Amino acid sequence: MKQVQSTPTGYIGRFAPSPSGPLHAGSLLAAVGSYLDAKAHQGQWLLRIENIDPPREVEGSAGIICKQLEAHGLHWDGPILWQSESTQVFQDVLNALEQKQLAYYCTCTRAEIKARGGHYDGHCRTLNRSAHEASARFLNDTPILSYQDRIKGTIEVPSEFASEDFVLRRRDQLWAYQLAVVCDDYLQGVSHIVRGEDLLFPSVWQLSLWQCLSEQRILPPRVLPQLAHLPLLLDPQGQKLSKQNHAPALDETKVRENLYQALVDLKLAPSAQLLEAEIEDMLAFGVGAWSQRYIISN
Ligand SMILES: [Zn+2]
Repeated sequence: MKQVQSTPTGYIGRFAPSPSGPLHAGSLLAAVGSYLDAKAHQGQWLLRIENIDPPREVEGSAGIICKQLEAHGLHWDGPILWQSESTQVFQDVLNALEQKQLAYYCTCTRAEIKARGGHYDGHCRTLNRSAHEASARFLNDTPILSYQDRIKGTIEVPSEFASEDFVLRRRDQLWAYQLAVVCDDYLQGVSHIVRGEDLLFPSVWQLSLWQCLSEQRILPPRVLPQLAHLPLLLDPQGQKLSKQNHAPALDETKVRENLYQALVDLKLAPSAQLLEAEIEDMLAFGVGAWSQRYIISN
């Protein structure tokens, strides 16, 4: 796996879309927020395509996403990381966790878990299930219950959620998001994560796994990343703008308007004149305003 050289400031951020469709206003917001934070720290901004869920992928969308980012002036540093290239790392990490008895296999169905209260109760922990037709779970014995979010402040997560033995590899043998995102962020040297707040609670699982990989020396020791979660954009029905909810793709003839709206949604208060500016100047304004609002004031 490629390791990225860290910058003098040590800041490495990333944008990590899944290729399940073109970017929409909500994913652009995450791209712009993470980009501005990286630039405001003189850091690197990496692009990772999270293509490990083939049933949800839409052919051609990775290429479209790259073109959309470039059209909005969001140029990433270094080569693109394709998450599918990391599957051997995911397997090695799962094997190491299993050897240390920090992962186990589970055959419980969703209906069974629901009938037992909804949160996974560790039912299979001591049952020595085999990997066959089973999901792999993390033995989450030292859960992290809260963390400091750079935008939202202290995040306290209900303990029944935080302590859950979350899934590392799904029953259909696809890698679970939690394992994949932690391994890739970890190995890419990501120091700062800026993303949508739908991941506000699962962040504690990721921090817990990250801490375990470091403390158990499963991967070279690394400090926990700093987290910042952005508000989600909602559709008129109050649902998160997402590909699953059929959010419209960005209008590529309205790059300035799209960027301007992202600056507004990030509460950076762009002036009306900025709408007439070059996209480089809009982003430069964004970096300064982001720095004032989210870095200097903290
Ligand atoms: Zn189970």
